[in-house]
Amino acid sequence: MRISRAVAAMPTSAIRDLMTLLADQPDVINLAPGEPDFPTPQHIVKAGMAALEAGQTKYCHHAGILELRSQLVSKLRDTNGITTGPEEIVVTNGAIGSLYSTFAALVDPGDEVLLPNPGWPNYGMMAAIRSAVVKSYRLSADTGFLPTIGQLEQLTTPATKLLLINSPSNPVGAIIPKDLMIDILEFARDHNLWVVSDETYDVITYDSDYVSAASLDTDQRVVSVFSFSKAYAMTGWRVGYLVAPPAIAPALASLQESLISCVNVASQWAALAALTGTQDVVTSMKNAYARRRARALEILGEYGVPVYPPAGAFYLWVDITSAGMSSRDFASSLLENRRVAVVPGSGFGSAGEGFVRATFSAPDDQIVEGITRLAAYCSDVAAEARRRGALRAGGSH
Ligand code: PLP
Repeated sequence: MRISRAVAAMPTSAIRDLMTLLADQPDVINLAPGEPDFPTPQHIVKAGMAALEAGQTKYCHHAGILELRSQLVSKLRDTNGITTGPEEIVVTNGAIGSLYSTFAALVDPGDEVLLPNPGWPNYGMMAAIRSAVVKSYRLSADTGFLPTIGQLEQLTTPATKLLLINSPSNPVGAIIPKDLMIDILEFARDHNLWVVSDETYDVITYDSDYVSAASLDTDQRVVSVFSFSKAYAMTGWRVGYLVAPPAIAPALASLQESLISCVNVASQWAALAALTGTQDVVTSMKNAYARRRARALEILGEYGVPVYPPAGAFYLWVDITSAGMSSRDFASSLLENRRVAVVPGSGFGSAGEGFVRATFSAPDDQIVEGITRLAAYCSDVAAEARRRGALRAGGSH
């Protein structure tokens, strides 16, 4: 008796590992999580409760309640520049549900998928469950952590089926600019690839022009993935959605029948209230992120610790190479010695080595204290490494 080969081969997430480790350490400043520190705004909570009280406790259409999908048509038009209809939208269990359904609908065992490295670890897990072959494209500092067409060309073979892009990205916060997005779509056309565009952080951006891949799609090859989790601080409600070309939207919708039947109906009514209610809640969370981002960048700058200033999302991608240790060792000794939790960059793929991810989705005082401790630790360790290096060099004369 054994579990399936595909599931046995599934990598585990470094983020989850760390959460387990932190569960009983209350004195730790936790800059590891990937979710808003704000509660869900009250009017959204109330709408969810009202839906339950009104008897919205039954199954609904597997693609989601029509009221929500119809409202999403306007959101997608106004925020993302995507023209679509309710029948091309599927409401899923978070963006993760959209991503899994898309992998399930488009990838056969042995197909190659192009995934970002560093990238959100769940992509690799889903590819493993689908027995897909992962081809990682590297995102590095010298290209602003953006994909390059040259590298995608090198990795693509006749077996390549799907290109996954993530903008704004986790863990780096990079945003794919319009010109590059046009080139990526042209590349996908040339190689007949599906493009899965994870835009979970679409509304969390800082002075950068974000563009939705599907708004530039000329031949119906983009599946776009969005979420209520981050924009509205609704991670536990589990509502996300995908927009797919008409040729595959029905298959994606009917997949829900086998996977989940439908998303929690009260959560969908809450999500509808999020869209129709005041958007000031989004703006004020965004302003808080922007303020904390600026402060954190300032502190890292004062200590001379290199960091990529994120264009979107709420993570800092901190370069810890000067400390001269692996990102895993750095994260665990930071936790042990300075009581600050961050995620080792290697948890996001081999190209994440030399970095750690620290969230700025935590209260301001914790950001200031946590980032100061992180920066001080990094420069202390680097100074110690230099001192030892100098001693060794001195000793050899
Ligand atoms: N995509 C990215 C890049 C993420 O960072 C996350 C969550 O951290 C998700 C998707 C999943 O979000 P959801 O809560 O909507 O499933």
